Amino acid sequence: MTNPTDEARVLDAVPTGLFIGGSWRPAASGATLPVDDPATGKTLVEVSDAGPEDGMEALAAASAAQASFAAMAPRARGEILRRAYELLMERIDDLALLMTLEMGKPLAEAKGEITYAAEFFRWFGEEAVRIDGGYAVAPAGNSRFLVMKQPVGVCLFITPWNFPMAMGTRKIGPAIAAGCAMVIKPSELTPLSMHALAAILVEAGLPDGVLNVVTTSKAGAVMEPLIRDGRARKLSFTGSTAVGKKLLEQASEKVLRTSMELGGNAPLIVFDDADLDKAVEGAMAAKMRNMGEACTAANRFLVHRSVADAFADKLAARMGALVVGRGTEDGVQVGPLVNARGREKVVTLVQDALDKGATVKIGAVPGDGPGHFYPPTVLTGVPLEARLTHEEIFGPVAAITVFDGEDEAVAAANDTEFGLVSYLFTENLTRALRVSERLEAGMIGLNTGLVSNPAAPFGGIKQSGLGREGGTVGIDEFLETKYVGIAFG
Ligand code: NAD
Repeated sequence: MTNPTDEARVLDAVPTGLFIGGSWRPAASGATLPVDDPATGKTLVEVSDAGPEDGMEALAAASAAQASFAAMAPRARGEILRRAYELLMERIDDLALLMTLEMGKPLAEAKGEITYAAEFFRWFGEEAVRIDGGYAVAPAGNSRFLVMKQPVGVCLFITPWNFPMAMGTRKIGPAIAAGCAMVIKPSELTPLSMHALAAILVEAGLPDGVLNVVTTSKAGAVMEPLIRDGRARKLSFTGSTAVGKKLLEQASEKVLRTSMELGGNAPLIVFDDADLDKAVEGAMAAKMRNMGEACTAANRFLVHRSVADAFADKLAARMGALVVGRGTEDGVQVGPLVNARGREKVVTLVQDALDKGATVKIGAVPGDGPGHFYPPTVLTGVPLEARLTHEEIFGPVAAITVFDGEDEAVAAANDTEFGLVSYLFTENLTRALRVSERLEAGMIGLNTGLVSNPAAPFGGIKQSGLGREGGTVGIDEFLETKYVGIAFG
């Protein structure tokens, strides 16, 4: 268990102002907003609450820094990321404690996120020196084409609370590698991890103005003028589909490049030829990571009738044995949900499924103490018309529905407006490939419940988003292609 002195020390060390043009300062209005501990409901610290004028200053600072940052040697930009990666790993214990305090996830998971977050810096630090273009002979032979890659320009980033650091580094890493300055607005629920990250980037040598952080409780009022301003050339958003659609509309005014990492509704399919232990292991990762508060969380379990009871028994045994509590305590594996609204949503969706005929195998009784706890829950016989088969649960609830044939499973899996990730478990190679081709998703977890990797292209199709983060394509989102036509001969 962490002791109160450690908690006070990490909270004391984290900057609480806005980070604009290389310095921390209060909001112009002097306003602050509270950051609460979801395990206790108590306020941990107050941070500056930006208004529209602060947002505009941040945009001006990023614009002023853009040209010189774009001109910095790629190796130098890569080395900033490498140093930041090393600092993140050196300070992982304190950073994990800070993240657990503001977000609720258990310390081990917070360390997992920081490692994942830091890996984006390591990966894109290496990619910074691999940006290249092309040279070609025109088909008629009388001219030449030179293709250049250049930074897209100032970027606006908006990130969610569920992975408060990794959702930032996934954007900041490639932006720095490509030579883009930026304004970032973290979630008002979990800004502290982003503030700590900004301080580390400064220590790693990031020039003033390249990264600006505006934490605010007035996201729309602060960000909309920046999106419509025209000085920023790209908007990258991670969050809900509803907000993403609104932002796309705003971004259309100045035709900004956009990347949208939006909601999910992942199916997890267990075929009769699956290795059931592997399937349960994968289900635990896909469902219970981050208390189920992940866009990649398995939202619907589609299990072949012949193995459904055995799978449900094994999954319920594993989920029921998890220790729920404050994430800072030893042995805790499931923390609280992020806030009262998040827990209320889970309660409502579970009740709706029960009303429509589902059965509780374990859980489904929320605690009544302080903190937004919800117990690991397994529901069986969930009808496809239940709301939780169409909406993100964002909680530790496994909803199991039985199927009989492959076509039926694929049709049910694809019956959603989302298309982020699908998981499938089978030991039959031909079926694995056939079903992978048929599933409408940007990512497939084949016999695994974890697909996120900084070296792989993360992203969704349908209403789960636009663009990819990570992998060799991740940096393209931050580069413009310019072609020079050259008369020849
Ligand atoms: P959200 O859409 O409510 O908020 C996301 C961010 O947008 C926050 O910073 C919020 O302050 C900001 N925001 C809200 N309204 C805004 C507005 N009008 N203008 C500008 N900014 C605004 O989502 P959330 O509850 O923070 O996060 C959960 C959602 O994020 C889920 O739907 C989840 O699936 C999704 N998510 C997606 C990915 C992915 O990579 N696809 C990753 C993590 C989370």
